Amino acid sequence: MDMENSVIEKQIKEERTEFFPLSLYHSFEKPFVVERANDYYYYSPNDENPYIDLYNNVCHIGHSNPRIVEAVHSAYSTINIHTRYFQENLTKYVKHLQQYIPDGYKVLFTNSGSEANDLALQIALRHSGSNQRFKIGSFQRSYHGTTWLCNQVSHLTPTGVLDTYEKDLDVHFFNPEDSPNMLYNFPEMKSFILETFQGVGGNQEISTEWLQHIRSRVKIMICDEVQTGFGRTGNHFWAFQKANILPDIITCGKPIANGYPMGACIFKKELESYLPSTYFNTFGGNSVSCQVAKVVLEELEEKKLQEHSKEMGEYLKKELLDYEDDIVRVTGSGLFLGVHFNDKINVKEMVERLKDHHFIVGIGYNNILRIKPPMTITKEAINKFVQTVGFILISMANKK
Ligand code: PMP
Repeated sequence: MDMENSVIEKQIKEERTEFFPLSLYHSFEKPFVVERANDYYYYSPNDENPYIDLYNNVCHIGHSNPRIVEAVHSAYSTINIHTRYFQENLTKYVKHLQQYIPDGYKVLFTNSGSEANDLALQIALRHSGSNQRFKIGSFQRSYHGTTWLCNQVSHLTPTGVLDTYEKDLDVHFFNPEDSPNMLYNFPEMKSFILETFQGVGGNQEISTEWLQHIRSRVKIMICDEVQTGFGRTGNHFWAFQKANILPDIITCGKPIANGYPMGACIFKKELESYLPSTYFNTFGGNSVSCQVAKVVLEELEEKKLQEHSKEMGEYLKKELLDYEDDIVRVTGSGLFLGVHFNDKINVKEMVERLKDHHFIVGIGYNNILRIKPPMTITKEAINKFVQTVGFILISMANKK
């Protein structure tokens, strides 16, 4: 490609506007063009300096990971078939995944986190057995995906603003800042869906007390681990483990196959009869996704990436909190952090300026800056990022 970056940018912008609806939004006021990515770097055409990716929690074990490339190639050039025929990739992977799941659960594979949550919600709905409107609890600041059912239980849109579309189900959105005793006011509510660390909600944590109360009050507790599973939060493989509880259903997506589309709905065996009587998902659990997902687990284990996430996350949190005049709080855990600036800082400008300095971060609910890089991120990259945040803070202060 020898077109100037700005020319390519302009052309992509025009074509997107012509062919896609406005709902296909993009990040950044002035977007950058990504040509390729490797490990935690993005490369733009005609730009020798890579961008450091501090936001992509899908490419969990790094962009273009060579073992994933090899797995996709070898699986696809051998066989790529659905779950209706016997094939070893499916069972080999599920046995490996089972090492991370307590006894007594079964699994169905999907294509996405939304599909996994949709299936979980269908189980809960059938389990409720009620002719009345299905009652379910969720949290304010939650986001659970794109299907109609997922939309019903999501408080926010994917951009982190309030979803004002009226709900058909009887969903109550609890405020995580309230006391969990609030649950006693809803004795008929038998199901609850939650993210232990709310992603779109700004990488903020739901308290252990809330998790334990929900566990003791409802029949079907769904823990959405789409953002936080696979060691992301450092201390545990699944984020809900911090509360020492077992949900009835665990849902996964994003990192499970490092960007090869896949999701999983992991449910207690006794819920099997509440599933649709037959389940077939053309792509879910196919030969390629299972082989790729197995490599994700192998790399996590061999490179001890969960431990790395814990160490890097603690370090980054500590370094950021040194900017105590501007950063009020850092929420989250491991490599899943939400940076809360004081009101004087324009966070959108900060994110845009970081991009201009070649650091990619995101923004969630209430202008919280979100950090969730590939788990391979190094201390060196973190140091450069922290220095750049400091530099931008100074230049923003001088501007005033
Ligand atoms: N649950 C959570 C917590 C998410 O953050 C998302 C996506 N941002 C989803 C579910 C939906 O996943 P997908 O986009 O793969 O359908």
